[in-house]
Amino acid sequence: MNKYIKELVALSDIDKQLKSFDPQLEQIEKRISKEKKKIDELICENEKITSKIEDNTAKIKSYEEQIASINEQLKDLKRKSSEVTTEKEIKALEVEEEIAREKIKFANDEIEQLNKINDTKKALLQENEEKIQELQKELDEILAEAEKEKAEIDKQKTELFKKREEIIRDIDKKILAFYEKIRKWAGNTAIVPVRKQACYGCFLKINDKTYSDVLKGEEIVTCPHCGRIIYYDASYESGEEEA
Ligand SMILES: [Zn+2]
Repeated sequence: MNKYIKELVALSDIDKQLKSFDPQLEQIEKRISKEKKKIDELICENEKITSKIEDNTAKIKSYEEQIASINEQLKDLKRKSSEVTTEKEIKALEVEEEIAREKIKFANDEIEQLNKINDTKKALLQENEEKIQELQKELDEILAEAEKEKAEIDKQKTELFKKREEIIRDIDKKILAFYEKIRKWAGNTAIVPVRKQACYGCFLKINDKTYSDVLKGEEIVTCPHCGRIIYYDASYESGEEEA
């Protein structure tokens, strides 16, 4: 195999390895954001519950004020009842008092109902609060784990970059630029083997002339169909499958 091709295959192999960390890193970020989302949803839910409790508390206060004011009315009625004399007037005051007492009963029932609702909501709030703490603990563990994984990936990447630098230092600059140009659209498959006289980038059969150039391996050959750099894969043709 031509020296340049050997270098390009080695370079492409390193680039593939470098790229292979991307999904791992994505996976890590996904795990973190999934956990954060769970916490955010609970926090948001608790904000809504708290605001509902505040609404109910305001309503309770307003009912209590109503009761206080009706009690004042009742005192008034009592005072008046000692002053009235006719049957008709007494009856009228009695009706008024009855209405006032009904209003108080209604307000008390409402207060009781609202307090019950608030008790349930406060329990839910507490439950969510515990869940949030639990999730926060989990998130801390996930973050610590992620830090470790990322550090390990960084270490491996640094080593690969060092190797990459070494190859690049030796490689012909024009060939390197050519490889990088193809890599822009072909990504990991900028340089591919030829197997059974077919390009392993586009999987189309290549003509005899190009194939013989590939076999000779004297210069950089590109696939006539897709433009990727192609090389003869001796290990495959001799029956040894690549890992
Ligand atoms: Zn091709």
